[in-house]
Amino acid sequence: MSNFSSDEDVITLKEKLQHSQLVFRDLALKSRREATILKRLISRLIAASQAHEDPLLNERLSQIRRELDSQDDVSRLIPQLALVERMVNRHNQAMEKAKGTLECQYEQSAETLKCLPGLPAQLKRDLRNLLISPNAHEQGNNNKIVALLQLYERALKLLALPSNGLTAKELLNIDRINQLCSELQHLITELDFDGEAGDRLLSIRSKLLLAPEAQTLLELTLESVQLILDGTRNERKASQAFLSQLNEDLSIVQRHNGRSIDNSQSISTQRSTINDELEHSVETIQTQLRDAESLDALRPKLSQVSVNLASLVTRNKELEEREQQLLEQLQHNEQKLEALYSQTMDYRRRLGDQERKLLLDPLTKVYNRAALDDRLEHEYRCWIRYETPFCLAMIDIDHFKSVNDQYGHLVGDKVLKVVARTIHQCLRDTDFIARFGGEEFVILLPDADEETRKSLLNNVRETIAKLPFKFKDMRLTVTVSIGASMFKDNDNTVQVLERADNALYNAKHNGRNKLVWA
Ligand code: GH3
Ligand code: MG
Ligand code: MG
Repeated sequence: MSNFSSDEDVITLKEKLQHSQLVFRDLALKSRREATILKRLISRLIAASQAHEDPLLNERLSQIRRELDSQDDVSRLIPQLALVERMVNRHNQAMEKAKGTLECQYEQSAETLKCLPGLPAQLKRDLRNLLISPNAHEQGNNNKIVALLQLYERALKLLALPSNGLTAKELLNIDRINQLCSELQHLITELDFDGEAGDRLLSIRSKLLLAPEAQTLLELTLESVQLILDGTRNERKASQAFLSQLNEDLSIVQRHNGRSIDNSQSISTQRSTINDELEHSVETIQTQLRDAESLDALRPKLSQVSVNLASLVTRNKELEEREQQLLEQLQHNEQKLEALYSQTMDYRRRLGDQERKLLLDPLTKVYNRAALDDRLEHEYRCWIRYETPFCLAMIDIDHFKSVNDQYGHLVGDKVLKVVARTIHQCLRDTDFIARFGGEEFVILLPDADEETRKSLLNNVRETIAKLPFKFKDMRLTVTVSIGASMFKDNDNTVQVLERADNALYNAKHNGRNKLVWA
């Protein structure tokens, strides 16, 4: 047995050695490549995060970067990297705290802006939407804060800087005057007086639509109050006049009835006297006929009886005449009572009409806000009880102010009427529509599944956009924006109205003539 390997073994050993050298070279190359990549990555990370406010951390990072450039062995930097990691962690905690403080400050600033007196309604709405915006967190703090700062800038421009030569206070007053104008206008729309008071109130309403100055607004307000007082007083007077007339007529009928009863009693007494006398005469004739010895002896007695009978006939005729009169009197009384009955029924109908009018909007003839309150409450209770899908939608005419400005408010009124009628025609029998204010309507769709409510609301929007309005041969296109919401969870009516209002606001912002759900 030899201790030496054969030639064959030596060759195999050489090959193995060569293979191992190759593998080692590959590994060395790979490791150098990975080290280069790692160095590049660490270097870039350091460059990207070097905007720290902590100078010590910045210095450490720069040092690591320098050493990375000169060192081949990355593992020697591990202790320094561990130190920096601790510093970065501390820094992150401080950043989290700062983020919390910023969030707090954001909320406070928003609150301050919200409470700033005299902010225009639009700005308040934008602020509210920013605060409730569901994307606010996803978009990060920066976007929220930028948006809030933009609102601050708008508020500052509107309130502090003079605009169109007007001071902030004057602008605030104009905003208030416009608000008062619109409220008074709505109030008058709710009233429905007949006659002169009604006509004059309508003409005040037209003037209010032309955005009057403060002085004119004051005069119109006073005049409206006066007219409302006059109207109420007149209606009260008319009711009193009707009641006292009714009272008088009834007492006349009562007097006549009393007299008729007296007459009928006296006629009945006289008739029984006549009957007694007639009976007596018949008895006398019978006795005379029985006891008489001759016809001649009977004659004078019978002639006395015949005189009595003739008188009885005359009195009976008189009695018949009085009876006829009594009959006529009774017929007259009956007619009078019938007339009074129909008068009362007429008055009752008028009261019923007025009661209905109290729930109708006089211009568009759809229900008014008071009726909406009642119906909403009712449908809400049904929803709580049966839990069938209940949808509420707010519909607002787009750019309606410019319809008024371009074609006059009478055309505006006509548009309002047609739009209200069109919405009504698109609804099912169980749905409900009310004029919510100016050019806004609210509709309630109880028990409407997804398909029904979507197609119904889209149909409302599309039908209105296709309405063939014309003004002096010019085509006038009217569109509406719709904000809709479903009742869900623990909703109350105010929350759903607010959600629909926000959706409507988004529909306006997304370009109008849109249906948006919230
Ligand atoms: P948007 O698309 O944003 O809704 O714009 P808009 O012009 O429709 O809305 P804005 O609220 O600025 O204007 C509503 C206008 O509606 C102002 C008011 O004069 C008018 N208006 C309110 N009630 C009546 C009314 O009964 N008749 C008429 N003709 N106009 C009315
Ligand atoms: Mg509008
Ligand atoms: Mg509106």
